[in-house]
Amino acid sequence: MSEHGKLHRFGGRLVMVGFGSIGQGVLPLLLRHIEMSPAQMLIVTPGNDGHEIAAAHGVAMLDAAVTEANHRELLGPRLGPGDFLLNLSVDVSTTALIALCHERGALYLDTVIEPWAGGYTDTRLPPASRTNYALREAALALRGPGPQPTAVLTHGANPGLVSHFVKQALLDLARAAGEPPAVPARREDWARLAQRLGVRVIHIAERDNQVGARRKEIGEFVNTWSVDGFVGEGLQPSELGWGSHERELPPDGARHTSGSLAAIYLRRPGAGTRLRSWTPLAGAQQGFLITHGESISIADYLTLGDPAQPAYRPTVCYAYHPCDDAVLSLHELAGRAWVPQERHRILKDDIVAGTDALGVLLMGPPRAYWYGSLLDIDTARAACPHNSATSLQVTSAVMAGVVWAMRNPERGVVEPDDMPYDEIIDWCRPYLGRIVGAYTDWTPLDGRGRLFDEPLDRDDPWQFKNFRVG
Ligand code: NAD
Repeated sequence: MSEHGKLHRFGGRLVMVGFGSIGQGVLPLLLRHIEMSPAQMLIVTPGNDGHEIAAAHGVAMLDAAVTEANHRELLGPRLGPGDFLLNLSVDVSTTALIALCHERGALYLDTVIEPWAGGYTDTRLPPASRTNYALREAALALRGPGPQPTAVLTHGANPGLVSHFVKQALLDLARAAGEPPAVPARREDWARLAQRLGVRVIHIAERDNQVGARRKEIGEFVNTWSVDGFVGEGLQPSELGWGSHERELPPDGARHTSGSLAAIYLRRPGAGTRLRSWTPLAGAQQGFLITHGESISIADYLTLGDPAQPAYRPTVCYAYHPCDDAVLSLHELAGRAWVPQERHRILKDDIVAGTDALGVLLMGPPRAYWYGSLLDIDTARAACPHNSATSLQVTSAVMAGVVWAMRNPERGVVEPDDMPYDEIIDWCRPYLGRIVGAYTDWTPLDGRGRLFDEPLDRDDPWQFKNFRVG
């Protein structure tokens, strides 16, 4: 049992849409930390996913897929003022659900901004419209002038928790640099702190080395969380927050012409784009530059000056080394010219060993600094049933986000960056294993050019071209 006990008393109805690896893992945490009866909850999901887990907790399930055609009649009557819609599904539009919640006066939280089914891979749309940038702009456009019920966007581990890790990491660097111990009060103050510390690049640097009892087979995609979700985002254009120190746009890079202007995209899928990074679990590694909401929201949050020609903005991107079977699955997916495998398997109860190292790597100061969670499978299982190391980093952040939204019900549409980093980390802490701050001398130039000449920018190690795998 966690040290926190009940964090909030909730009197409304809570509808959870989707009950896969994250929904099943978060259910015990919600009932552990929110004072409410299982009878106040309803899970809406197609098929029989996790019905025995719902039944064991006394929570009712409705066998239905939420679609563009039915979402109003299916969910509308089940939501009123003060109720909660927790969206942990795939293929269900974030903006449609938030619009409905705002009409009904209900609170909302999700872990990713999703379009309706097929939206990620609809090649009739230009690449710019298939980006997370476009999805984020559409979600932020739901912000109204007056008070609105709280709708928390993208509050899982990443996106989500990592935005809070960035702030803690900045404070750690500030203390190490001898800065006075003042916590920035406003967005601009955080950006000024990052600028003062010389942070040029922030990676969401993750290494998952969990292994299952059975190896991946041909024609099978294996992962430690949603295969549908991972393949969907892996086939979107690769995206990254684009820093003010970058000297040249990548040859396949493209800028947006409206919105925050905080990010660029590459004309290629993230599942086929690799970059060099570092985690304390494995040292130097190559990860996949998968598009993620936090790459854009953190870069936007830390921008100073004119967004088109910022005085300061770090480059922010996700450098993801998923579990080894997922790496093989991506390799096979690329070989199939991005036609998804027929069979999916999510590793959870059959994991035999491994750790998920999820953190933020801040680069630019004299030494790079990684701050995050090192959570092994045994610690995760002991902390909460129905979870893996990967899912618990997500589900603890979902629980914390739900509690925060319930306590702050009139904040309108918010991103993780708008929420209190310290409170959220504190609520998640019992579920994150070892929280580690690690310095490293690693740069993407280490060992480069030894075998062959490479077109590197040796004057500035932190240029994107040095990270990217050619
Ligand atoms: P999953 O694939 O294990 O489960 C998805 C669930 O959604 C299943 O229960 C499925 O039946 C249900 N579903 C599918 N279509 C639906 C529909 N039309 N209506 C209602 N339910 C539907 O996925 P997961 O691992 O539980 O992930 C859930 C979501 O969370 C995904 O969108 C994923 O991308 C996201 N996620 C975010 C993070 C993060 O850190 N931010 C991490 C992991 C997953």
